[in-house]
Amino acid sequence: MEGRRDTPEQAEFREYVQRWLQENRPPAPSFRMPEHAIEVMTEEQRTYLCAWQKKCYDAGLIGADYPKEYGGGGHQGFQRIASWEMSAANVPYMINVIGLGMAAPTILHHGTEEQKRRYLPPLLSGEEIWCQGFSEPGAGSDLAGVQASAVRDGDNWIINGHKVWTSLAHFASWMILLARHSNADKYNGLTYFITPIAGAPGVTVRPLIKITGQTGFNEVLFEDAVIPDTLRVDEVGKGWQVAMTTLLHERGAAENAGSGGGQSIEDRLGALLALAKRMPRNGKTAWDDAVIRDRLMQIVIRVEGFRQVFRRARVAALTDHPMRLALSSKVLISELNQDMAALALDIEGAFASLYLGDERAPDGAEWPLAYMNSYGITIAAGTSEIQRNILGERVLGMAKTK
Ligand SMILES: Cc1cc2nc3c(=O)[nH]c(=O)nc-3n(C[C@H](O)[C@H](O)[C@H](O)COP(=O)(O)OP(=O)(O)OC[C@H]3O[C@@H](n4cnc5c(N)ncnc54)[C@H](O)[C@@H]3O)c2cc1C
Repeated sequence: MEGRRDTPEQAEFREYVQRWLQENRPPAPSFRMPEHAIEVMTEEQRTYLCAWQKKCYDAGLIGADYPKEYGGGGHQGFQRIASWEMSAANVPYMINVIGLGMAAPTILHHGTEEQKRRYLPPLLSGEEIWCQGFSEPGAGSDLAGVQASAVRDGDNWIINGHKVWTSLAHFASWMILLARHSNADKYNGLTYFITPIAGAPGVTVRPLIKITGQTGFNEVLFEDAVIPDTLRVDEVGKGWQVAMTTLLHERGAAENAGSGGGQSIEDRLGALLALAKRMPRNGKTAWDDAVIRDRLMQIVIRVEGFRQVFRRARVAALTDHPMRLALSSKVLISELNQDMAALALDIEGAFASLYLGDERAPDGAEWPLAYMNSYGITIAAGTSEIQRNILGERVLGMAKTK
């Protein structure tokens, strides 16, 4: 049972979080909310989610384990409780997902005292949104292939280059940026920066339209953008090591500054089963079809398997290798979600061709949308192939790929 290993202070905090969430759940918005924070597009979605993050932050549910001097709660082992309870309560997710999950832990670990004091509090509260400028047209899985350049000019750096797939850049005040200061060495030629985005001279954010017709990510162009050296994170040439800290958190192998909320896998499964019981098939419902029932049972088994992996990930004795369970979780959940959406489309049959805005579309067309978006989730934060390579090489000790 969740909470069994809580200390008395943690148990008290858990009770407080449960009570607070019950009393402060925000009213359901009158507009559609996307499945993931990285699909947030409109100003009304942003306003609603920023207000929710601020409220959670003020209540101590975000940044709970971060030092007080950087805007945190100054506790230990409280954040995972808050995040767990937020997911269990099925409240809205945090919009500043890149800030909380990647920028905050990276700045906390590698940033200067000044950077921590300036950037962490408004990041935790959601008053400043962050994005991640790692990927480029020629650098994704091979991240060390980054070509965006950072050229030193006295106390400043001049940034030029083209970042792509930059989630949330359209709302972002700041970006964590990986850039190349030297071509002499692939890894040691990289340096890590904090870069202003919104309204910054020399920075252009262009939305990318996805197959769904929606946006969410962008390309970001830097043309002689000038940033002070005080925005460099860690030493010149240490960019690769700093980026590894970011990726460790992005891939879920370490606690972040706050998460939780959104639709749980159990709720999603419930929606899938309800869909099967409702959709007509051969004079009965899809639920009565033996083949569909068999496929549903395979999904039920995988959901239970995932729940067990998730539980095991919180048992210290089973997390001797920091990457093992966390890395496998990312592959498991993203592929499970994809297969659930694919099955939903089969259950819907011809109705699956009805899209957002069509009132005849089952479940408001969320399943065809989820199916298309599910491909992005198997790619973002490291593709399934790359995750499997890492699991094979670093966890199982198998031979390295060329
Ligand atoms: C929804 C979404 C949001 C994203 N958000 C951000 C963001 O905010 N910031 C950011 O910087 N990036 C972001 N990305 C980019 C993401 O990190 C990259 O797309 C990802 O790392 C893959 O890189 P790539 O697209 O260049 O594909 P490539 O690296 O070119 O890969 C192409 C194919 O080759 C396979 N492949 C490559 N190398 C190997 C190998 N060694 N072994 C086996 N197979 C291999 C891959 O698995 C893939 O199938 C986002 C992507 C998506 C889809």
